[in-house]
Amino acid sequence: MFSEVPSVGSLITNNDESAFGEQVVFSRFCSPFDIKELFCTALGLPRNTGLSLLDSTGAMVSIDPTMPHNTERSPYKVVPLSGGQLADKEELFQNVLTQVAEQFSRAFKINDLKTEVTNRLAMLEKRVELDGMKVVQIEKCRSDIKKLQEEMASKNNSHFIDDNKKLTPRRDVPSYPKYHLSQETMEALRQPSFDVWQWEHNEMLSCLEHMYHELELVKDFNMNPITLKRWLLCIHDNYRMNPFHNFRHCFCVTQMMYSMICICSLQEMFTQVDILILMTAAVCHDLDHPDTTTRKTHILLTYQVNARTELAVRYNDISPLENHHCAVAFQILSQPDCNIFSSFDADTFKQIRQGIITLILATDMARHGEILDSFKIKVDSFDFTDEEHVTCLKMVLIKCCDISNEVRPMEVAEPWVDCLLEEYFMQSDREKVEGLPVAPFMDREKVTKPTAQIGFIKFVLIPMFEAVMKLFPQIEDVMVQPLRGSRERYEQLKQIDEGTYEVRGRGAAKEK
Ligand SMILES: [Zn+2]
Repeated sequence: MFSEVPSVGSLITNNDESAFGEQVVFSRFCSPFDIKELFCTALGLPRNTGLSLLDSTGAMVSIDPTMPHNTERSPYKVVPLSGGQLADKEELFQNVLTQVAEQFSRAFKINDLKTEVTNRLAMLEKRVELDGMKVVQIEKCRSDIKKLQEEMASKNNSHFIDDNKKLTPRRDVPSYPKYHLSQETMEALRQPSFDVWQWEHNEMLSCLEHMYHELELVKDFNMNPITLKRWLLCIHDNYRMNPFHNFRHCFCVTQMMYSMICICSLQEMFTQVDILILMTAAVCHDLDHPDTTTRKTHILLTYQVNARTELAVRYNDISPLENHHCAVAFQILSQPDCNIFSSFDADTFKQIRQGIITLILATDMARHGEILDSFKIKVDSFDFTDEEHVTCLKMVLIKCCDISNEVRPMEVAEPWVDCLLEEYFMQSDREKVEGLPVAPFMDREKVTKPTAQIGFIKFVLIPMFEAVMKLFPQIEDVMVQPLRGSRERYEQLKQIDEGTYEVRGRGAAKEK
């Protein structure tokens, strides 16, 4: 007993009655756990061995710094609760188990972690964007976002998609330039006459973003505005630099869809889910279009099928390109930071996914006749409450938008013909080299702009737009009339071409 040192307690313990006891000295301020450890050390037991303490009468004493002092004559007895050896092994086993569990969760839960961090990030971003919070709070959110981004970066490892880096947006959203569209631009955007050539890529991205806001898709479906930006960037990065099937074509098709929604007041007869499907299918409809292509107009055999390329094999020759566009679209959406559909429940998501797939697959021109015939049967007794009717109309609408360049003013439409011919010629050149059959309308030596366009406008475009006009007479002035005008113009051009040829021919004959 050394009670003269007030901050230290001491105890005599005797584990073996025949042996002389051990003396332990401890601070009055240490924890019961420390005292237990001290006992274990004194008795040569593993540190975490469970102990009970008995006084000389055999009564149990609670182990803590305030327990009664004892003497050498009345030592306490320390009783280990389990065998030391066993506890030792158990400790070792527990350690190994903990380590293994940690390794496993590191390996398998990293994706959960990413989703969780991304969701938290999305929540914070939404707060910043939507609520217009006070500067101090915004600053705090920013620093939180930065911290989370750093955390994500450090947690990021090879479990994430890195085989195709394009699927992850390359640019950081906060540095994405923000364009304020003028009132004039916003008005023009609602018309088929919109000049699609005067915009940089970032400006087109801003326009697309504007459409999603303007149609109230962002508000109604509680979309994170920053996710929308990131998704659009990722879409942009997944269009290739083809002469025709590129991001500007994606923009044109979507802008025409937006015009049709506005001009035909489609929001009055369609649900917002339908509007979302129409817009999103338009945005995604040619994703990752390869550079050798089929004319999506009036052919059955495509380069893809003829050449038995990888895509044709993958999709069993059934709309291989369109299936690929769909697959890429949903690969992009499967990333949490690009998922504009994250607020939907599983059933609604399934419905939207099905809707988008149906529309993108409908852009395969090999199915043109089938789809238009099916629409013509329905159009005279069209029923907006009939799901089949509505789906068929949506398919025709995306088809119209996809091939709608000739609806645009001549100076906007004409450069697209050159782009398309350039893409065809690249394909037919390659087909010639590979010994594949070349479609005459793709052959550099046989095609002229007027011959390429007249048949297409006359037999594909006008009949389809006229069928839609039965439901929406308001498109006659702004869409069907320009098509008729374009047809006439190309017919005149063709006559001029032929006239020139005839004159030349006669001249040649005279010379002979
Ligand atoms: Zn297209």
